Amino acid sequence: MFDRAVKFVELPEGLGDQIKACNSVFQVQFPVKLNGRIEIFTGWRAVHSEHRLPAKGGIRYAPKVNQEEVEALAALMTYKCAIVDVPYGGSKGGLVIDPRKYNADQLEQITRRFARELAKRGYISPSTNVPAPDMGTGPREMSWIADTYKHLHPTDINHIAATTGKPVSQGGIRGRVEATGRGVQYALREFFRHPEDVRHAGLEGDLDEKRMIIQGLGNVGYHAARFLSDEDGVKVIAVIERDGAVVNERGLDIDDVARFLRHFGGVRGYSEGRYFENGTEILEMECDILLPAALESQITVYNADRIKAPLIVEAANGPVTYLADAKLRDRGVVILPDIYVNAGGVTVSYFEWIKNLSHIRFGRLERRYEELKGQQIVEILESLLNKKLPTYERKAFTDGARELDLVRSGLDDTMRAAYREIREKFYSREEIPDFRTAAYAVAIKKISTSYIEMGI
Ligand code: NAD
Repeated sequence: MFDRAVKFVELPEGLGDQIKACNSVFQVQFPVKLNGRIEIFTGWRAVHSEHRLPAKGGIRYAPKVNQEEVEALAALMTYKCAIVDVPYGGSKGGLVIDPRKYNADQLEQITRRFARELAKRGYISPSTNVPAPDMGTGPREMSWIADTYKHLHPTDINHIAATTGKPVSQGGIRGRVEATGRGVQYALREFFRHPEDVRHAGLEGDLDEKRMIIQGLGNVGYHAARFLSDEDGVKVIAVIERDGAVVNERGLDIDDVARFLRHFGGVRGYSEGRYFENGTEILEMECDILLPAALESQITVYNADRIKAPLIVEAANGPVTYLADAKLRDRGVVILPDIYVNAGGVTVSYFEWIKNLSHIRFGRLERRYEELKGQQIVEILESLLNKKLPTYERKAFTDGARELDLVRSGLDDTMRAAYREIREKFYSREEIPDFRTAAYAVAIKKISTSYIEMGI
């Protein structure tokens, strides 16, 4: 994908190779004593680029993660950060583990040991490498990792910025948990603001009543599906999970499916839809929007020809393989690429990191001041009009922005601006074949500018 896009960017000889190469990868094997028995765990942290620091990227807990996957995901982080103008290099970590097989105490022990191994060698630090949640990890793990870093570096006043995606009480930021899903929503909203792009996908109108299939109702998928159905009128007609899929053409209640999933660990037995044991087949069902939000390599050469969705929104990282991508492109399927669509997570992580470094919550200084100003405007208006304003109009003036409002506003602005930049590239006269190539080209251009100006 990189090679396809790099042709559209003018670069000094060899710079493309430097941008593409993964700078370093560290593999660790460490023992943890669990229930009196020693277990050995294997993990990686890859740093793809350091043209900006810290390098940033999630840590994934999965039974099948491997070095190549971690390196590829670190590369995606580099391009993702460039696209949304987040001043970071790209990194990613992975630990071979099925987290569902361990209880919270055991996971804490394993996570702290993994964090110690990484931090000792500089692979966790607020200034050089900052992890975030990914598949199988969440705020709890980020909190354990930041605390482990603090124990190793008690004099680092910025220790809390060693991870992002922490619980709010541990230095996290409001809106981070749902940020990637929220970003997916903002990306789709922006897409539907451009009728030409919507027509390009063979669709029309806005998001209301669009029929969507979603794969993976985890952090990203659940929030994206919930926001899109509750706030934009999207009808989720199928949810695909590990153990199969539930389908209901009238639309599924996402909160209800999610509750069932959390309680029973799957969707089998959910009564408000038809159950299909082979979930992957449901990817091929007719719909307007297909939203893979689970894991990579779900749409491959084997099923690409049977995919009927005219629009694929890559909420997960790498759900469409390179060869499948070419097949879909030939058929005119529009793909909004992962390096743009799921960049909401790292964008809000950036806000969290800034909050941690500045040691103050966003809005803390100005909120009441803004409210006071609003109050004064209301009083002036009321005295000029000689009547009281209705409560909702008063509120519009007198509510100062909370941290969450500011986070959403910053995220929305970021997703919109990035879409427009990619779009501009796509519709430029360079015959760029698709949005993904345009997104890569935008990213490569920005990274190369940074190298050219800074030197190698
Ligand atoms: P998660 O672990 O919270 O959720 C993954 C969901 O997918 C779970 O519900 C799981 O049961 C389901 N799933 C797993 N295997 C499946 C399969 N074979 N078929 C169907 N469903 C399956 O993970 P997440 O954080 O939501 O991440 C999902 C994807 O989004 C990953 O590709 C991740 O790299 C990417 N991503 C996550 C973030 C983030 O902020 N969490 C940010 C950017 C990208």
